[in-house]
Amino acid sequence: MTALSARPQAIRGGLVAFPAEGTVRAADLLIEGGRIAAIVAPGEALPDEAERVDATDRLITPGLVNAHTHSHLAIAKGMARAWTLELHLHNGPWTGGGQNVDDRYLLAQASAAEMLLKGCTACYDLVLELPTPSPEGMFATAAGYADAGMRAVVTPMLADRTFWQAIPGLREALPPEARASVDAIVMASSDMALAACERVLAHWPHDRAQVRPGLAPTIPLHCSDDFWRGARALADRHGAPMHAHLAESKIQALAGQARYRMSLTAHLDRLGILGPDFTAAHGIWLGEDDLALLGRRGACIAHNPSSNFRLGSGIANVPAMIAAGVQVGLGSDACSCSDHQNLFEVMRLACYLSRTASFDPDDWLTPADVFAMATRGSARALGMQDLIGDICPGHAADLVFLDLGSINFTPLNDALYQLVFAEEGRSITRVMVGGRIVVEDSQLTTIDYPALRAQLNDRAREIFAANAPRRRELAAIEPYVKHFCVGLAQGRIELAGNPAT
Ligand SMILES: [Zn+2]
Repeated sequence: MTALSARPQAIRGGLVAFPAEGTVRAADLLIEGGRIAAIVAPGEALPDEAERVDATDRLITPGLVNAHTHSHLAIAKGMARAWTLELHLHNGPWTGGGQNVDDRYLLAQASAAEMLLKGCTACYDLVLELPTPSPEGMFATAAGYADAGMRAVVTPMLADRTFWQAIPGLREALPPEARASVDAIVMASSDMALAACERVLAHWPHDRAQVRPGLAPTIPLHCSDDFWRGARALADRHGAPMHAHLAESKIQALAGQARYRMSLTAHLDRLGILGPDFTAAHGIWLGEDDLALLGRRGACIAHNPSSNFRLGSGIANVPAMIAAGVQVGLGSDACSCSDHQNLFEVMRLACYLSRTASFDPDDWLTPADVFAMATRGSARALGMQDLIGDICPGHAADLVFLDLGSINFTPLNDALYQLVFAEEGRSITRVMVGGRIVVEDSQLTTIDYPALRAQLNDRAREIFAANAPRRRELAAIEPYVKHFCVGLAQGRIELAGNPAT
């Protein structure tokens, strides 16, 4: 393991990508105490005692920041079939269930390994434990990131309704034996979950500059109003950020309207949830009023284009989000619904997707826009914008070094355009977090990858074998869920209003 260099370091001779300016230019960096101490013109004087680091032929970027992922699903790469979000949730008990506390650590390490190798140095991780979160589970997840040398916000996912209870009419549409089957899956009470979260927040054992806790009532429809209010009060008491999936699917938007007689966004605002510490994941099925409200409250949206494509959820209107003043970061979402944790892929998709919303190229997102989202925007979602997401004096030395000799940058015409449109992560030679080298010569320095791989393969076999009966049970019910949800999305089935919350 490479320790943090005690001596200041002068990184000389590289090109540096600055997200705030949307530019790439030659610059030398002085790193001191794990932070960026100075940025100077090439060759300009830096302290004599600084160790010289040669960055010739390197492009240096800030570490990318993943604004939305779920480490417990790092086990489920390649498992999702032709599933919409609703079928993904229906299958959740076997894709993401049956894990123990040791698995929390293992899967956080697996997530960290992939992200670090692909230039991502911080993430917002929403972790599900059933039937309720535990301090041991959350602390183990956090330890997985801390030991990998990565930064993270780790949040327990909260719900006091199951998926089948959350959508009005779905449970009732199932045949009796299927209904009995899903009724056997229960969530712990909101009181029990909030008490566990209180212990998580009060006894957090990690350095909060590296790994900090938050709260994630997972989906508005999955949490009762009292649960939401309790989570908000807890977050306020502990200064913890909040995160929820918001209007990810058309069905959620319709079900929200039926249950609350207003949009999901208005419902959350009525409960006092929205604010600068709130991140909404996806935000695909939002109206103009919703975006304006999120913008007024200073909230963030984590845009997850690869997941949205994989689940056929729809196209998020990112230019409209930005126009409404919403802060936008980029996320990969879980390996069960995008199969990877690659922010280069996400940046590229975000850029391409914006081209589907308008015939006017002036409306399209630029490489500089999406690069800023994957760095500064996501850092803002994590509440770490004063520490990460940029290359400026005082910020942490969370840096990615890419080889400009790689085929992705050859010929070198426009480094920023090639970073977004050509790079996939394979040019990365070195990654540092707080000045500590965590990837060197494209290899992890903090994780024994062959051992991690062996453990992951073993646990995936064991967990999915143990979950096989539940998988079969849910597969038998899936056609009914599919029929109801597809009918709802297509307008063939109407939802009964349910004012009860
Ligand atoms: Zn998610």
